[in-house]
This record gives sequence, C-alpha cells and structure tokens, in this order.
Amino acid sequence: MAAASIFMLRQEEAALREGVRAELAAHAQTLQIALEQSYVAERKDEAQQLITRLGANTSLFGLLFDEQGYALNQTNDNLAKKFAHSPELLKVLTTGQKAEFVREIEGQEMLSILMPINFAQNQRGAFVLALPLAFVRADIRQARRNFALTTLALFLGVSGIVFYVLRRGWTQPVSELIEGAKTLGKGDLAHRVPVSNSTEFGQLAQEFNRMADHLAEQRQAAKREAAEKLALERELEHSARLAAVGRLAAGVAHELGAPLNVIDARAEQLLQRPDAPPEKQRRNLEIIRAQTNRITHIVRQLLDLSRPYNLRRQPLDLRDALRATAEHLELQAAQTNVEIVWNAPAPALVSADPDFLQQVFTNICANAIQAISGGGQLLLKVEPCAAARDGVSFAMARISDTGPGIATEHLEHIFEPFFTTKDIGSGTGLGLPVARSIVEAHGGWLEASNLKPNGAVFTIYLPEHKPDKS
Ligand code: ADP
Repeated sequence: MAAASIFMLRQEEAALREGVRAELAAHAQTLQIALEQSYVAERKDEAQQLITRLGANTSLFGLLFDEQGYALNQTNDNLAKKFAHSPELLKVLTTGQKAEFVREIEGQEMLSILMPINFAQNQRGAFVLALPLAFVRADIRQARRNFALTTLALFLGVSGIVFYVLRRGWTQPVSELIEGAKTLGKGDLAHRVPVSNSTEFGQLAQEFNRMADHLAEQRQAAKREAAEKLALERELEHSARLAAVGRLAAGVAHELGAPLNVIDARAEQLLQRPDAPPEKQRRNLEIIRAQTNRITHIVRQLLDLSRPYNLRRQPLDLRDALRATAEHLELQAAQTNVEIVWNAPAPALVSADPDFLQQVFTNICANAIQAISGGGQLLLKVEPCAAARDGVSFAMARISDTGPGIATEHLEHIFEPFFTTKDIGSGTGLGLPVARSIVEAHGGWLEASNLKPNGAVFTIYLPEHKPDKS
C-alpha cells in the first residue's frame, strides 16, 4: 500500500509539473506571436508594455532582451540580473531555439522559459517568462498529506479488520483449545471445546472433543474394571479366609480328635474292666496322660500363635543358640546317619529370648533331620551383618539339609497352621508357623526355599544387638 501510494504520489507530482510546464509553454508561445507582430508593425512600445504588464501578475514574470542580451524593460531587476548575458540567453539568441529550466530567483524556485523573437529580418531578441513553483510545491505537499491521511486511515481500518478476523478465526479458537487441554489435563473429562465453524480450527475442536469422549469412555471402562477387580479380589480374599478357617478347623479337629479317641478308648477300658490287673490299668492311665499332654502341647502351640509373646530378651551369639539345639538333636541325628556341618567363623550377636530361639531352631532342625532320613548332611551357617532394612543390620542363621527338599506346590503352604505332609501322629503342622511367629516377634523374618539339586533351606534373620541401645 505504501509503495503504491509513493508511486501514485510521484505520478501526480510529475503530472502537475508537466501541466504547469505545458501551461507556461503555451503562454510563452502566445506571447511570442503577440510580440513578433508588435515589432513587425513597428509598435515596439506596445510590445514592451505587454511584457511590463505581466509584472502586475505576481505569479508570472516576464522580461524582454535585445539582440545583444540587454534587458529592454527594467520591470524585474532580479530577472534581468539572472538572465542578462547569461549563457542560456546567448544560446537562444544565436540558435533561435527556446530553452526551459528551473532557477532560484528571489529565494524561490522558478520554472523559466526563454523564447526567441524576431524583431526584423536578421534581428533577433528574446524574452523570458518565469513562473514560481511555490504553488506547485504547496499542491504536492497537500497531495502528500492527503495520501498520508488516506494511508493511515486505510492502515487503521485494515488493522482493525485483521485484528477482528484473527481474534474470531484464530486467537479465540486457539485459546479455547488451550483452555480445553488444560481442563482435560486436570482430569475434567466432561469439558468440551465449542465448535464454531468448519475451518481447520473447527475440525481440530471436533477432533479434540472426540478425543475427550474417548478418554471419558476409557475412564468409565477403567473404573468399571477396577470395581469388578476389587469385587473379585474381595470374593477371593473371602474364599481364601474361609478356606484357611476351614483348614484350621479341620486341623484342630484332626489333631485333637486322634488323642481324644485314644483317651476315650482307654477310659472305657478302665470303666468296663475295673477288675483288670493293676499293671494293665496303670498302662491305660499312662496312655491317657500322654495323650492329654499331647493335647495340651497342641493347644499351647495354637495359643502361642495367637497371642503376643512375653519375650525375655538378652544379648546372645546365634552360634551358641544353634549349638545348644544341635547338642539336643545330636542323638537323633546320629541315629538317622545325619552329619552336622558348621560354617560359623564369626560371632553374630542378637538380642533374643534364648528359650524361644531354641524352639525355632529345634522345629526347623528336627524337620531337616526327618527329611534327610537315610543319611546326609545338616548344614548350619551363621553370619553377622547379612542384611539391612531401614538402616537396621540383621544377623543370619541358615539351616539347610541334603534331603529331598519341599515340593514346589507345598512351598506356599508350609507356614500355614496344620499344614503337614507327615503321617498321622508324627506331624502337627504347627512347627513352622510357630517358628515364623517367634522370629517375627523378635523383629526379624524367616524364609524358606529349595536348594539345587536337592534339599531345603530355612534362613532366619534377626536384628543385630547394639550394645549402646540395650
Ligand atoms: P510338621 O513338621 O508337623 O509337619 P511343620 O510346620 O514343622 O509341621 O512343617 C510343615 C511341612 O513342611 C512338613 O510337613 C514338610 O512337608 C515341610 N517341611 C518342613 N521342613 C522341611 C524340610 N527340611 N525338608 C522338606 N520338607 C520340609
């Protein structure tokens, strides 16, 4: 627009100048004819008067020169000084060709035209006609001002329209999309972007809304799935709890049922045969007592599992506790051809109740000796600083054997109360659950796994004794 304005301005300036020039040339030609006729008619004074009267016109000046280049009328001194004997005038006088140029006269620019006139045969003079360009300049300035104002008005108008179009067609939809993305990001999947038109932004808004629909559907589906999963998990948990209670009840019934049957049978014998020999009666009473003790033992173990232990902790070396157990079981090990192998080079101090710890080791070692049956090794390992949890250091006692190991399908059940693979009467299924609960009461944990190629391994971790904290 600016380039077009400048171009048009230039065009206008050129046209204006050309108009002025053509007008001046026409005047000059008319004057030339009038002056020449005056001289031909020997009316020199009339010719000079014609030029002098031009002086009355403030926007047109004229001056007449003779064949030597002298001014013939002294009406305009400045013009006379400028052109008398000037090279341009002399050239016109000699050639008889008119000349046009712009000159600064009296501090203002003037478009001047020098025209030859024939006074008589072979006698040539000239006259100059000058027009100040000030009014042309004023016209051009005005035109420039008009152009500037038009351009500014046009610019403001176009800017306003562009701004409005951009706002409606670009900024507004973009900010609506940004707002939509933010709201969606915050989790409000119900938010939708207004779809205003069928431009690319409109299509984008439609796609955005479709995406939000999709996300909302997915969230609904995920919620449904989570609820179904939770319900299923609760059901499974409930069934597992029922199964555990069932197993516990069956175990209790089974474990207590057998000795109670024996007691019942022996008591019946005593009642029915009061005259039986005293030895027989004594034997029956001993059996009743032994079975009662068995029941008491089972009930105590069950109680131990369910109530908090009254631990009497003291600093002790795990090696000493394990050695005491090994000594108790030495005879049993020797009978079943089991070799006890030690790997405990360093002391491992823990703070524990020695009696309860004894029970843990006995339960695990007795199982191992039973599992080995027919010869093998019982490996006892003790290690200080074997593990760390939450900044607490743990010592370790590991009891492994060269027996057949634990069947993979049994591994997850061996710590359940009454789980046993042993024959009726030889196993209660309470040894490992009791051992685990004792270890946990000490702030430690008990792990079971299998060895390769065969054998089982039980590892007990207990917090190490810190002398300053005891
Ligand atoms: P119980 O010894 O009365 O059966 P436990 O709770 O002590 O009860 O042991 C549960 C079961 O774990 C055992 O019946 C046995 O199947 C398995 N088990 C325990 N220790 C070992 C071992 N060293 N090797 C193989 N199986 C074992």
